[in-house]
Order: sequence, then structure tokens, then C-alpha cells
Amino acid sequence: MSLILILDDRGTNRKILAQLAVSVEPSAEVVTFGNPLLALAWLDGHRPDLVISDYRMPHLDGAEVAARIRAKATGVDVPIVVVTAYNDPVFRLRALEAGATDFLISPVDHVEFRTRVRNLLALRHHQLQSRRQAQSLARDLEASERSRNALVRESREALAQLIDTVPAMISATDRDGRLIFVNARQATLAGSTPAELVGHGAERILGGRRSTRSLAADAEIFASGLAVPGFEEELADSAGGSRTLFTTKAPLRDGEDRLVAVLTTSIDITDRKRAEEQLLYLARHDALTGLPNRSLLGERLRDRCTQARRGDLPFALHFLDLDRFKAVNDALGHQAGDRLLRDVATRLSDTVGEGDLVARLGGDEFAILQLGIGSAQEAAHLALRIIETLDRPFTVMGRDVSISASIGITLHPADAGMADELLRNADLAMYRAKSNGRKGYSFFDAAIDQAAREAMQLEADLRTALIRSEFELYWQPQVCLATNRIVGAEALLRWHHPTRGLLAPAEFLGVAEETGLMLPITEWVLRTASKQGAAWAAMPHGGIRVAANLSPSLFRQTDVRALVAAVLDESGLDPRVFDLELTERVPMDDLDKVAVTLHQLRELGVCLSIDDFGIGYSSLVYVKRFPVQRLKIDRAFVSQLPDNRVDAAIVSGVVALGHNLGMIVVAEGVETAAQVEAVRALGCDEIQGYFVSYPVTAEVLGRTLAEPVAWRLGV
Ligand code: C2E
Ligand code: CA
Ligand code: CA
Repeated sequence: MSLILILDDRGTNRKILAQLAVSVEPSAEVVTFGNPLLALAWLDGHRPDLVISDYRMPHLDGAEVAARIRAKATGVDVPIVVVTAYNDPVFRLRALEAGATDFLISPVDHVEFRTRVRNLLALRHHQLQSRRQAQSLARDLEASERSRNALVRESREALAQLIDTVPAMISATDRDGRLIFVNARQATLAGSTPAELVGHGAERILGGRRSTRSLAADAEIFASGLAVPGFEEELADSAGGSRTLFTTKAPLRDGEDRLVAVLTTSIDITDRKRAEEQLLYLARHDALTGLPNRSLLGERLRDRCTQARRGDLPFALHFLDLDRFKAVNDALGHQAGDRLLRDVATRLSDTVGEGDLVARLGGDEFAILQLGIGSAQEAAHLALRIIETLDRPFTVMGRDVSISASIGITLHPADAGMADELLRNADLAMYRAKSNGRKGYSFFDAAIDQAAREAMQLEADLRTALIRSEFELYWQPQVCLATNRIVGAEALLRWHHPTRGLLAPAEFLGVAEETGLMLPITEWVLRTASKQGAAWAAMPHGGIRVAANLSPSLFRQTDVRALVAAVLDESGLDPRVFDLELTERVPMDDLDKVAVTLHQLRELGVCLSIDDFGIGYSSLVYVKRFPVQRLKIDRAFVSQLPDNRVDAAIVSGVVALGHNLGMIVVAEGVETAAQVEAVRALGCDEIQGYFVSYPVTAEVLGRTLAEPVAWRLGV
């Protein structure tokens, strides 16, 4: 049963490490300490088999802890593992110098932790076992002074036999570097027998280089009388393969406590090491293409960034995204898609320079770390070469497939010094390359970065705007040209931004669409607008029609009918004076589905308008398929009236179309008296625009509505 000492000032870490340790050896006894001083005191009465210690702790750091443990009789030869943060190489070195056996990087990787603990404990047990046997031999020798010779022989043989059964390579060398003991396993590895080896120099079993190091360690032990920390070593076996050993060395004393030899114990950890390497490989490579994955790229990038600080050449990070890959994948199937990705990986690897790194980040995204470039030009050249290589058609399952790539490039150290920043920059630049029309490259640009940051800030602010009641509806009246009276008003959204002041919809609706905030915002708009409409309806002057804008994306996101019904129910507004404006500025996908919803809305009794009519995507399809009552002619056709004859003809055409279908035609963006007269003459029914009023608050419009005079126009 092993005794394991865990030392960490954080309780959660102690708990995790203790659980991991027990998972390696369920019968192990684990003792944990938060305070290193208490742990050192405890060591006076206990002899642990393994110590795991955090580096950064109050009172003492990991190096000092290791040094003090080594100074104790119970801790001279215990394996000590020190846990340090990734970016603390100096601490690691210090800990090793102070006598730590090994280190782990925090956060601790569970597989790695278990492997290390298992190895160190196994080694520790072999070590203790051989030492116990050696000591019992020494005791026997003393006890049976009389039959000494016979006993010596017997005991030696018994010991040798015992030690031969231990699954470790064990040998002992004297002060002159001569082997005084070799177990069978060690001898076999050297292609010899114990009898042949004893009395010869240690290089017989160790080989040249390894024995130099080994003898140096022995000399250290003879000088200090203390064990040295265990270490890993590679050696060639007799079959020509390479094996990894984990070796420890400890002093061996005779009956009079004289240091007579150094006991060397090695266990073969080759298989475990390979399994560990295999695991590590899998964790850092992409299974489909065999390329390094995001995690390995990140490691290399971080390495590079640290090295660059010491004056390496600049490097470039390319972020590559295939154009139209999804289409190929959908059309030809996943197998073909996989094949294509593998071929792309091969072409990329063939195109980059020696020493550059190609990684697959996932999906159809790749990255290239281009090292040691002299100028941005060189990065551009590589990007171009890549675009050209990928431009040649691929043959996938007997077919020619064409794809292309968009590449974003960022430069170190010009654009950023940190790995994460570089990845983000390159990603951003790639999006720009894509929006510039694909199949091209684009360099990271700090100004675009700034815009992206601002958009992110805006998004964050927008998320809290509803909760903080920062929205307000402004109202723009609509006037009937026959009566010169205000018959309706359109609700236009405004945002009282905490630092940027009053914002118009153009400044934030795009972000709202992208982030899924359009739905909650529209719910608020509809609720507020219909409540306002109901309030005006209750005033002595009688109500007006209230209009609200509906974003086309809403029809995909929610049941618009249910939403409008709920809003009307809540406000009590007469549905016939609730006007919903549907813009044709933005294309809509599922017209059939939208048409169904619009019919349902009509059944509720609400009024429907086509907004921005004439400039959009619908080209009369909306008029044909949707049950609308009103057409709002876009400002673009009004702004150049009365002089522009083409615009006049268009307005007159729209009026004829609308009237033939029984619709009301509204002219938007009317700014001058001349425009009022022009649209009146062309047959429009209503107008909306700065000439009548800018969008104003509900309060201001309410006061205007209360005035008993007709709106005077064109005077
Ligand atoms: P829209 O629906 O076409 O609204 C008319 C826009 O034109 C308003 O801009 C208004 O202030 C402006 N305008 C009105 N009369 C004149 C004029 O005589 N001359 C000129 N140059 N402009 C005039 P605003 O308030 O900035 O709104 C812009 C757009 O944002 C709206 O265009 C609408 O599409 C959208 N929007 C506004 N509120 C909402 C909302 O609550 N939901 C949704 N989905 N969209 C909204
Ligand atoms: Ca509108
Ligand atoms: Ca409009």
C-alpha cells in the first residue's frame, strides 16, 4: 500500500489530485496538506512513497519544499512531482535543481498524471523491495557471525534469486565503478549473464554515453550520501530497437552504515511511453487528414511567440476557409467531402515551405504557420500559390470538383504578439477576404479590427438595452391628401444609448438581426405601439392608425400571428387601426409560408402595408401573393420630384397598380411643398415625410393630434 503526500494551497486541487491518485492505486493512502510547513512537520514521522506538490504556495514555493523534503531522512529518495503553470519554465528548472523528480503542467492532464504516478510508484516499490532485501542480507550477515561464510553464500544466492524475480533491472556498482551485483533481467538486456558481468566496469551493461552519466550520478551519491532524483533514459536494446527506462539510484550501506555501493534500479516504461505518445499524438492531430489540429497549432504559435521575443524573424499566420465546400459536401455526400478535405490537406502540405506548419482547424478551415518571412510580400506570395493550387479541379469519386479558398493573413509581430490575438486577426481577415468576393486573400487590418470590437461592444450593450428600458418609439405622422388630416403614424425605433446618445435603427438593427435580438425587440415595439394606439383612441379627438415595422426574418423565428394576437389582446387596440409594414428591401425565403401567416393576420383584422415599394427584391411578387391594403412608395422615387419625369411616371404607375387592386398608396419621404403637390397630382392618397413632421415623441404627436385644426399642406 502506497502512502502519497499531496501539497496544494487550493482545496479543489487537493481534492482532484487525491481522487486521481486513488484512481491509480485504490488502496493508496493519500494525505493532503494546504500548508507546506505542516506537511514538512508531518514528514518527520512518516515516509511517503510519492509527493505531489504545487509550485506556487504561500510560505514556501515548490523548489524550497523539494529541497527541504530532500533534507529529511524520510524524504531523501521519495519521488517528488512539482506542478507548475505552463508559462513557468523557470520554476520547473528551479524545482528540478532543488531535487524534484519530475514535474507536471497545470491544469493537470489526467492521463499524463496517472501514467506518471503509476510509473513513479512502481519504481518506488521496486526500489524499496531491493533495499529491504539488501538490508536483511546485511543483518543476516551480522547475526550469524559463526557460520558466516556459508550464510553469506546462501544469503547471496537467495537474494540474487529474489531480485531476479523483480520485473526491474537492478545493479550495484562500487566506488571504482565496478559491478558488484547484476540481476538476470539487467544482464539479459546487455546480452550477457550476471556471472559474466560482476567485477567488470558498469559500461558493460550501460554502453558509452549512458555509463558516463550513470557513473557521474554514482559519484554524486558517494559524495553526498543521498539518493538522486529518478530520470528517464533511452537506450538501444540488443534487437536494435530503442527502449525507455526510468531509473533511480540510491546509496547502499553495509552493516556498519558505510556507503559501499550505489544501487541502480530501472524499470522499462517503453510501452507506457509509446501509449502515452500515441495518446498525445491523437490529441494533437486531426483524424481525417493527419494534419496537426487546433491544439497543436496553438502550442506552436505560443512557442513561436515566445521565441520571437528573443529576436526570431517575423512570421505569418494564414487562416484558410474553402469557398463552396458545403455545397460539394451536400451534393456529393460526406465521403466525397472527406476525400476532398484530404486532398486539400495534401496540396496544402505540398505547397508550403519546409518548416511551415499546416493545420486543420475543423470543418473546411485550415491554418498555415509560415515561418521566417522577410516581408509581408512573402506571405502574400504563399497565399497566392495556395489559391492557385486549390484552383485546379480535384477528382473526387470520378468527378471533377472545383472549389476555391479565401485566406486571411496576419503578421507577427506587426499585428499582434500573442497567439490568441493572431488567430482572431487571421479569422477576421479571412472574413474580409470572403466578403471581398472569395477566392482571394486579405491582410489583417487594425481599422477593421476596431470596427469588429465596436460591433461586439454594441452587441453587448444591445443585450441589456431592453432590460434597462433604453428604447423609445418615435412617431411620424401620415396625412391624408383628401382631408389634410393626420390619419396615421408610423412607429420608428430609437435607442437611448448610455454613452453614444440617441441612435437611429440603421445603427443597431443589423446587429440585432445577427444576434437573434430582433424578436424580443420587435415584441417590445409591437406591444408599445399598440398600447400607444389604444391610448390615442381613447382621447376625445378619436384615434389614428398606428403602423409598426416587421422584419422579414421574424417570420422564420416565431409565430407572428400568435404574437400580434397576444399584443392586441393585451392592449385592447382595434385591429383595424393596427398597420404592419413589411419591407421589400430584404429578400424573404419561404414566400408560401409567409403568405399563410399574412392571411391569418388579415383574419385578425389588422392592416398590411408593403414598405419601401419599388426598390426591393419582390418585383411585384408581394403584391401578387400577399393580402396587402397599402403600398408605401419608397422615398427614392419621391426625392427628385417634381422634376424627374421617369420617377413621376413610376409613381403614377404604382398609383394605377395600387388603385386597380383597391389599395391605398402612400408617398414616403415627402420633404417639400412641391413634392406634396407632385404626389397629390400623381394620385397618391397619403403622404409621410419631413414636410409634415420629423419623427417625434408620442407626447409631441399627442399634442398635435389634440389640436382641432386640419393639417395645412402645400401652403
Ligand atoms: P422606413 O420604415 O422606411 O422608415 C422611414 C425612415 O425614413 C425613417 O428613418 C424616417 O425617419 C425616415 N424619413 C421619414 N421621412 C423622411 C423624409 O422626408 N426624408 C428623409 N430623408 N427621410 C425620412 P429611421 O427612423 O432612421 O428608420 C430607418 C428604417 O429602420 C425604417 O425605414 C425601418 O425600415 C427600420 N425600422 C425603424 N423602426 C423599426 C422597427 O421598430 N422594427 C423594424 N424591423 N424596423 C424598423
Ligand atoms: Ca416603415
Ligand atoms: Ca419605407
